[in-house]
Amino acid sequence: MGLQVYLDGRLVDQQDAKVSVFDHGLLYGDGLFEGIRAYNGRVFRLPQHLDRLYNGAKALRLDIPLSKEEMTEALLQTLRANELTDAYIRMVVTRGVGDLGLDPRKCPKPSVIIITASIALYPEEFYEHGLRLITCSTRRNDPAALDAGIKSLNYLNNILAKMETTEAGVPEGIMLSTDGYVAECTGDNIFLVADGRLITPPLHVGNLAGITREAVIELAREQGIETSEELFRTKEVYSADECFLTGTAAEVVPAVVVDGRAIGDGKPGPVTKTLREAFVALTQSDGTPIYP
Ligand code: PMP
Repeated sequence: MGLQVYLDGRLVDQQDAKVSVFDHGLLYGDGLFEGIRAYNGRVFRLPQHLDRLYNGAKALRLDIPLSKEEMTEALLQTLRANELTDAYIRMVVTRGVGDLGLDPRKCPKPSVIIITASIALYPEEFYEHGLRLITCSTRRNDPAALDAGIKSLNYLNNILAKMETTEAGVPEGIMLSTDGYVAECTGDNIFLVADGRLITPPLHVGNLAGITREAVIELAREQGIETSEELFRTKEVYSADECFLTGTAAEVVPAVVVDGRAIGDGKPGPVTKTLREAFVALTQSDGTPIYP
């Protein structure tokens, strides 16, 4: 028996986990997703992920057919069926099957998919030595056109930027807003440390309200590190003392070279290390138990 996937109320073998070619998630990217992690038998910050998903659904006028409690139960049930304690979880809600037009009213039933997989960890050297980044020429979606806070199935903007990073031989890249402010990376939020202060772009610049970002801001404040949300450009990144990225997959990962400029002394810095350790400790203690 292969991996069990939750699909519209049933657990099915991964080879039978299929959706229709008329699903608007496929035809138009009309839908939402979440990337979540389970550590040590607990799902990290599940209520926050569900809030982001359901708020996105509200913005898209998409009625998720499960309550948050039912969604939680479906997720835990899927993890148990696969006997997972540490996992990467992908939750997807699509608009569902309709006709070939755009009109979502023709899609009466959204689909809910939950995939739980064992987690492929980032190489240890990323954390030890830090990442090299480039600034991508593809700009982040203008929030006036599509709010980056909606984690929609329409990720082409980030995919185009991701291809630039691959071309440059680096694992991540900075995306700017249409007016040239640093917004975030293709799949991670970004932080700077400058003069002992922690700085991250505000959400209105057009970035995702990362769950890891929020946790790191809380941890920094607990540690007495002055933290603020401010607009900045790449010049401020180059002259920062430290730079790091946050995301569900990456956790807290140092960035040491940006567009060929060493950040600080080109090595992961002390604030990054402190916050990474605090975050890792949080993941081991905090979360919704899979096996109550
Ligand atoms: N920005 C983008 C564009 C992302 O796709 C992600 C990953 N979900 C993040 C930031 C980080 O968010 P989180 O900490 O919730 O994983």
